[in-house]
Amino acid sequence: MSHFDCLIVGAGHAGAQAAILLRQLNYAGSVAIVGAETVMPYERPPLSKDYLAGEKPFERILLRPPAFWGERGIDMALGERVTAVDPIAHSVRTTTGRDIGYGKLIWAGGGAARPLSCPGAGATGLFTVRTHADADGLMALLPDAGRFVVIGGGYIGLEAAAVLAKLGKQVTLVEAQDRLLSRTAGTDISDFYAAEHRAHGVDVRLSAKVEAIETDADGRATGVRLEGGEILPADAVIVGIGIISEVAPLLLAGAAGGDGVDVDAYCRTSLEDVYAVGDCAAHENRFARGQRLRLESVQNANDQARTAVQHILGDPAPYEALPWFWSNQYDLKLQTVGLSIGHDQALVRGDPASRSFSVVYLRDGQVIALDCVNQTRDYVQGRAHILSGAKLDLAQLADPAIPLKEVDLA
Ligand code: ADP
Repeated sequence: MSHFDCLIVGAGHAGAQAAILLRQLNYAGSVAIVGAETVMPYERPPLSKDYLAGEKPFERILLRPPAFWGERGIDMALGERVTAVDPIAHSVRTTTGRDIGYGKLIWAGGGAARPLSCPGAGATGLFTVRTHADADGLMALLPDAGRFVVIGGGYIGLEAAAVLAKLGKQVTLVEAQDRLLSRTAGTDISDFYAAEHRAHGVDVRLSAKVEAIETDADGRATGVRLEGGEILPADAVIVGIGIISEVAPLLLAGAAGGDGVDVDAYCRTSLEDVYAVGDCAAHENRFARGQRLRLESVQNANDQARTAVQHILGDPAPYEALPWFWSNQYDLKLQTVGLSIGHDQALVRGDPASRSFSVVYLRDGQVIALDCVNQTRDYVQGRAHILSGAKLDLAQLADPAIPLKEVDLA
């Protein structure tokens, strides 16, 4: 049986970053990554942005050049998935049937695109946008497909819709809730993005429930049937309705968790010597008043990787990173800092019609997050207010003529 001092499960941002940091911080032990995808670690955000648009080749979204991993003594087992963890024996079993022993295990399994669960959901012509292979499948179809239905008005669905609209495709976007981005943003941002997509020709349907995928005799998707009977014809359907975290082997092994695997401030799971980082790690977040949650972002992947690695190296520091995130749609760059969940007030700085504005989210008079659209200055200057927790003058906060760093205390 092979054995590694540190075994990393998952070759996404979090897993790759853990390996990179172990070597950067001079970890002397053996390191391996087991990853289900068959390609070297790459950036995931471009899959629904410039990679999908055909503006960036795959080589340019690789996290490191292919030779990097071998040169750093990082064993890369790709196309292999861990199916079971034995926390007593400190070993895992993989889809190839082999067992691999570990000293420390870093679980960075991420998540799989949530599938639709309605009649016809197994049809061909349905695409998720989670992996490089997903995006390639969709791109291969682009020259021959003119009509798209995008299911899901989160960032993945909206970014994909923007790319398709820019390519001149006919796009209908179906969102079950009564507004876009309901999981992650406030209503001002939802309304703004709905208007933008409509202005770019996307038919945005809110409060729209998918009843079934219509198929032809070959089992190919031909459209989406909504509750009420309307059928939206489509040459292809994109499903962007979130992820299901990949933690089943850990939970089966007895790790605490549910939606994701629970970790403490050092990214330790309840299993000895097993850490979890990235999209699948349910942690108590300081910027959500200690609420346990998962964050699906590059920031969280990288920063939690650091937290786990530092703990392994005997230099522990709790995870307290300020969340940030971005989304590109059309010529709009949205930058988010902090977590807006639980806000009780939202101030709009600037005029959304100018396509450069920010939304400042507050709770109990304290700034907890900002969504900044083409407004990097607010994004940069807003951080300090979230970190300080100071109560600020609300009139000044809402006045775009006053730089955020100059806003007085209340
Ligand atoms: P992602 O990261 O894939 O964009 P989110 O959870 O942020 O994931 O967004 C997914 C969106 O899809 C949410 O706005 C949610 O309301 C919507 N959604 C989920 N299931 C359905 C469905 N069956 N039909 C339409 N919209 C859906």
